Amino acid sequence: MWQAEVAVDLDAIRDNVALLRAGTAAEVMAVVKADGYGHGMVPAARAALAGGASWLGVCTLGEALQLRSAGITAPVLAWLLAPGLPLHEGVAVDVDLAAASLGQLAELVAAAKLAGRPARVHLKIDTGLGRGGATQDDWPALLEAAAKAQADGTIEVVGVWSHLACADEPDHPSVDRQRAAFLDALALAERSGIRPRYRHLANSAATLTRPDTHFDLVRPGIAVYGLTPIPGRHFGLRPAMTARARVLLTKRVPAGYGVSYGHTYITTKETTLAQIPLGYGDGIPRAASNVGPIQLAGAVRTIAGRVCMDQVVLDCGDDPVAPGDVAVLFGPGDHGEPTADDWAAALGTINYEIVTRFGSARVPRVYLRGER
Ligand SMILES: *Cc1c(COP(=O)(O)O)cnc(C)c1O
Repeated sequence: MWQAEVAVDLDAIRDNVALLRAGTAAEVMAVVKADGYGHGMVPAARAALAGGASWLGVCTLGEALQLRSAGITAPVLAWLLAPGLPLHEGVAVDVDLAAASLGQLAELVAAAKLAGRPARVHLKIDTGLGRGGATQDDWPALLEAAAKAQADGTIEVVGVWSHLACADEPDHPSVDRQRAAFLDALALAERSGIRPRYRHLANSAATLTRPDTHFDLVRPGIAVYGLTPIPGRHFGLRPAMTARARVLLTKRVPAGYGVSYGHTYITTKETTLAQIPLGYGDGIPRAASNVGPIQLAGAVRTIAGRVCMDQVVLDCGDDPVAPGDVAVLFGPGDHGEPTADDWAAALGTINYEIVTRFGSARVPRVYLRGER
């Protein structure tokens, strides 16, 4: 018997990737960073590969090494690397690594020497996100150093890439500007003798709406998990995660009864309260106090009062509800339950943040396969 769980529909992940793949001539890199957006990195990666992804994308070296330890041999790119990491451990197991500065490139060269084999490198240009990537000013020097290291045999430039700032607004003029800047960066690379096998720019939103950004490889993340990158637009994806818990205790209380810390909710009439064993320690944002939607006993209810570390309370009125009943925080929405999009809208955030928070070690994940 379970008390609270996160169910992950691996067939949905597989099918979402198949849908993304059918929509592009490019290869698909499924992004499985942040523990697969809270879905479990390794199972999500395997499901994505089964759906036709040929690459996996992660942020950290640790994530990439974990994929390799799990026996996953598909190409993996890791792109967020602080100075001083043991990058040779990645090079040794064929992890592709990103570089956006001379310093980062020098670390990759040193790692290649330590590992005794060339480092596979993806050079990153900042085309306008203003986060990672070399500036246009610094790009020529990075290309020159990379061309030299490639000629020496210490690195192989496998990719040139960048990341979009506003792809979730497909008509935003910055998308065209970034694409143009990316083409300029590629032309300069070519002039330095760098012809990468993989040019990549598109996240989920661009994968779904801007084929002109696909190049050789697309990098969808949120869409892999069945969630829309563009609120209000639906692309036939299927949400993979369901978060649910069983009612612990129910009780009748009179009108005027203060509920949970601070008594920010007070009953207006005699009613039944239900105690649900999930709280902010499990991923429910505390900001969901008095706003987060949860389905229980045939209706979607709003959390009554503050979200606690381990629990929340629902006011069920006179509806029949009993200990052991299942409360659904969010799921695909098939049975009237709220979705991660509903949670994001209620909280003024994005669906990404909702599912990623539910990766807590305390709530067991169960993987569904072949259930539909
Ligand atoms: C997270 C990430 C992605 C995936 O973004 P989504 O919006 O989830 O598709 C792609 N590329 C990079 C560099 C990322 O950091």
